[in-house]
Amino acid sequence: MHAAVPTAQPGKTKVAFLGIGIMGNAMAANLLKAGYEVTVWNRSPDKCAGLAAAGATVAGTPAEAVAACDIALAMLSDPEACLAVATGPEGVASAMAPGKGYVDVSMVDAATSRQVAVAVRAAGGAYLEAPVSGSKGRAARLPAPAFFALRSSWPPGRRRRPVGARRDESLFEAAAPLLEVMGKASFFLGEAGAGANMKLVVNMVMGSMMASYAEGLQLAQRCGLRQEDLIEVVKLGAIASPMFALKASRRGAAPGMVAGKFPTAFPLKHQQKDLRLALALGDEVQQPLPLAAAANELYKRARAAGYSDADFSAVMAGVGSGEQAGQAA
Ligand code: NAP
Repeated sequence: MHAAVPTAQPGKTKVAFLGIGIMGNAMAANLLKAGYEVTVWNRSPDKCAGLAAAGATVAGTPAEAVAACDIALAMLSDPEACLAVATGPEGVASAMAPGKGYVDVSMVDAATSRQVAVAVRAAGGAYLEAPVSGSKGRAARLPAPAFFALRSSWPPGRRRRPVGARRDESLFEAAAPLLEVMGKASFFLGEAGAGANMKLVVNMVMGSMMASYAEGLQLAQRCGLRQEDLIEVVKLGAIASPMFALKASRRGAAPGMVAGKFPTAFPLKHQQKDLRLALALGDEVQQPLPLAAAANELYKRARAAGYSDADFSAVMAGVGSGEQAGQAA
């Protein structure tokens, strides 16, 4: 049975947030600031302390959090985490019911997203995948990241609504006010799986760009150029990118790649996971991805060198000869 989820409203709608990591913490804080009643759950409960102090209720299990809410959101690290939280013992599906919605804003592959959708819908709940493009800095401010789901003002000519997407779309409409306080735009791309694929394409490009930039910085240094000069030259040209400017050297703030410092905004282990998932998608649809495959090897090298939890700009350590590897974290 499928019952519509009422449209979210501050002071009225009860929201649960599962996964209080780098992104989840900032996003849940935005919901509290917007006046929503929020119940939080995290595998490591200590990470909920800040949100509890800001007014959130802390639940002991995902099921407890879902039982207490109308709409639950989850921001978890990878496919394994999403499946464990959604379908495991005392998981989301065990407390789902008609009239409740589950919005998974984690970054996973399309197959995982569909598996979670099946479990949630079998329990009578509604499901929406809404992976996020953006990062910690943006999530902490307003407006924050973009969600790959639907926006009702999306121009009709560009709006796509494939068969089967209607149930997802109705939960998007209900959750739109929540996405709005956490993000700056949202796009509906179709049935569960389409958002995951879009986000994988974006993160694959991002990972390859960062790996290429790291190689460029390394090559510049090797041939006697100043890395700081390369940064300035890149900034003025057609390949200028806010990401390069932010990560390379942070004037007046924390030093970046040039100083061998990689303060974590997007953990390198997650960037490598996204490249791995994008490569699997390429296999599935027979699309050659030689650049992403090469970039993935560099991120794997950086992980092997101990940079899993550092920012993904620490791919610099993967392209370096070792002596310029910087600091892990
Ligand atoms: P994070 O700080 O590493 O947080 C990961 C969260 O997942 C934590 O709450 C962690 O719980 C939980 N978790 C991991 N394995 C679990 C399991 N088996 N069971 C239950 N919970 C588990 O990562 P993040 O940066 O917030 O990223 C989360 C997701 O957002 C990832 O999919 C990432 O690709 C995506 N994303 C990140 C960014 C970014 O800039 N950071 C931007 C866009 C999208 P514990 O605290 O107990 O470990």
